[in-house]
Amino acid sequence: MNEYRKLLLANKAWAQEKLDLRPDYFIRMKDVQSPAYLWIGCSDSRVPAEDITGTEPGELFVHRNVANLVIHTDINLMSVVEYAIDALGVRHVIICGHYNCGGVKAAMSRQSFGLINKWLRHIKDVYRNYARELESFTDPEARFRRLVELNTIEQVRNLAETSIVQKSWLKRRSPWLHGWVYDIRTGLLQELTLIRPGDLPDDIYRYEFPPESL
Ligand SMILES: [Zn+2]
Repeated sequence: MNEYRKLLLANKAWAQEKLDLRPDYFIRMKDVQSPAYLWIGCSDSRVPAEDITGTEPGELFVHRNVANLVIHTDINLMSVVEYAIDALGVRHVIICGHYNCGGVKAAMSRQSFGLINKWLRHIKDVYRNYARELESFTDPEARFRRLVELNTIEQVRNLAETSIVQKSWLKRRSPWLHGWVYDIRTGLLQELTLIRPGDLPDDIYRYEFPPESL
């Protein structure tokens, strides 16, 4: 099974293609990166962040996990968020959900999947918060699509509720927080929500910082 070799061959062709367009394509980026965007997306192989946004190396700082969740005790994600905002100074954070998300679908079922139950329960919490709206859909597919959207919107709120984001809002009026959904059947992205710097939806999550720390 040498199917993996095609990836290495494709890489050679890709690198040459870039060099043909611009001889310094790689060398110019070797020491620094200054991406404007942090992308938090699903691990799903059908949602390749750079391809669907037409971005090049150096433009997107990327974190992906199952069902694009923002969980405050996830040290991996929070380290990425802090580095992207404080060190790289990204101006926009995009949280991108997608229809037909296996993680969301699993969370809607009663099946036990083992360890990942603990991850997916955060989506069950979203379901519980919006149960009335979700159960008003008679079509299960429509309910599934709406939970994908609500899950994405809730993750954007989770991000706004971090002290990392709020401190950056006070210090430099940035970043903007975006919630998008991707349709794997059409290849199109759609905007669901936007939180501008300072516009925290729920005040109970607002932190105060000593002036000298800003
Ligand atoms: Zn997914």
